[in-house]
Amino acid sequence: MSTSALHPALGQSKKPGAPGFSGGTLTCHCSSDPVVVKVDAQVAHNHACGCSKCWKPANALFSIVGVVSRDKVHVTAHPEKLHIVDPSATIQRHACKACGVHMFGRIENKDHAFYGLDFIHTELSKDPGWTGPEFAAFVSSIIETGTPPEQMAGIRKELHDAGLETYDCLSPTLMDVLATQVAKLRKAG
Ligand SMILES: [Zn+2]
Ligand SMILES: [Zn+2]
Repeated sequence: MSTSALHPALGQSKKPGAPGFSGGTLTCHCSSDPVVVKVDAQVAHNHACGCSKCWKPANALFSIVGVVSRDKVHVTAHPEKLHIVDPSATIQRHACKACGVHMFGRIENKDHAFYGLDFIHTELSKDPGWTGPEFAAFVSSIIETGTPPEQMAGIRKELHDAGLETYDCLSPTLMDVLATQVAKLRKAG
């Protein structure tokens, strides 16, 4: 197993964001008339994700996905090519109908802990300076989409070798955010 099987952008050491970096443009994979999304912020909580819903490049086991404030995300070219992959999903993934690339994921449920944040894939941007992935989430989920369980020890080792702690849900910080919201709603209810 090579790190390129995990994801083409994994394998180097952890990449901190460039100081003062304030965003860039994401472009879908269409060779003509691509969808362009302007992001006016550095990404936060960028991570490798093994879930079956995040967009990932062909043959990669993981996606790389992070969040930015939704008011910093603007479609600047070909919004007519976008559609929502699954309108019933918590995260509504706005994808290019032509090439399938997910341009951003948005939560419309105002009670959700991550409401106000959009999920983006910084690999769609050529701008240098994005913070690289900081951990790996939903690692065990890659079994659901066909990875043999006996490969998991090696895959976890590769992620660790790339400097990423591995979790089978989200990172402790993000799990705490989710649980805090549950507690808040319980109190309010
Ligand atoms: Zn496209
Ligand atoms: Zn995911």
